[in-house]
Amino acid sequence: MLQARMKHVILHVTERCTLRCKTCFVNKGGRDMRFEDARVIASRLGRVRWMDIGGGEPFLHPDLIALCGLFPESDLTIPTNGQDPERIGETVRELAALFKGRLTLAVSLDGFEAVNDAIRGPGTYRKALQTLELLRSIPGVTVKVNTVVCSATLPELVPFMRHVRSLRPDYHSLLLVRGTPDDCAITLPPLDDLEAVTPEILDILGTYSFGNGKYSPLRILKKRYQRYLWHIHLKTLRTQRCWVPCKAPYLHRVVYPDGSLSLCELMPPVGNLLEEPMETLEKRMCAFLEGYEREHGPCFCTHNCNLGENIQTHPRSILAILLGIAP
Ligand code: SF4
Ligand code: SF4
Repeated sequence: MLQARMKHVILHVTERCTLRCKTCFVNKGGRDMRFEDARVIASRLGRVRWMDIGGGEPFLHPDLIALCGLFPESDLTIPTNGQDPERIGETVRELAALFKGRLTLAVSLDGFEAVNDAIRGPGTYRKALQTLELLRSIPGVTVKVNTVVCSATLPELVPFMRHVRSLRPDYHSLLLVRGTPDDCAITLPPLDDLEAVTPEILDILGTYSFGNGKYSPLRILKKRYQRYLWHIHLKTLRTQRCWVPCKAPYLHRVVYPDGSLSLCELMPPVGNLLEEPMETLEKRMCAFLEGYEREHGPCFCTHNCNLGENIQTHPRSILAILLGIAP
């Protein structure tokens, strides 16, 4: 029951990408998910509350609309590097009609032009801004900016966040760099530096309405949740231990273009959804995490997507968010 209500899937529809960002940690081979495979994958995944399309650059997939259409009841999020505004705009207009009010687009921007283009490539800042503006003009679409927080972006993060705020997206997500970035010079900033900018970061994030009205209770809860999430990140990094038990085997699935499946993007696949039923793979995911935790202790990470559902199903965290207190 809980699983059906919460299930979150990251569906990597392609490995292809036009960019080579220094912060990137995903495989950039040449594979696209085949539509006939996606159909089988969709039937085996069952009901998905939140479908997070992943890549590569999802808009390079020639059947993106049809692939998303396999999950008509899900909330849909698509990240994009924003480098092909025309194609992205056309595709999003069609998807907005299919996923009325349930479609979120996340445009990646890592800083002002010089910082962004040093990480993501020359000219990428302007193209991404063009895409952001275009997406904001499409009715029924929630638009957010994704920024990777790392050693290269932290120095001007706060002024950049103010700038993003002035562009009026619905939200700005901060993602602490994770995995093994393609450029090994990219690292997590020192914890002291992250803590030093925390009050300003939270002030700015607190001004967003997340697509809700200014005085909506939902907006207040989301604001508290975002504060809690950020503090959990810092506490996890500071103590190097788990504060919210990971429920990835039950609540998350990451599916790659060839159908292979893992419990999160940081763990290896446990099998292939095109070859085995979900129940078998779910048992294997549970066994995998149990084995890992027996050896290393409770697993922890600072991945927003996974932490989100872990927090939302963790009674102590729910209480803290309702009361507006830090973890
Ligand atoms: S971070 Fe995204 S846009 Fe950049 S190379 Fe990786 S997949 Fe492409
Ligand atoms: S804690 Fe993070 S890294 Fe560990 S299994 Fe869960 S989602 Fe994956």
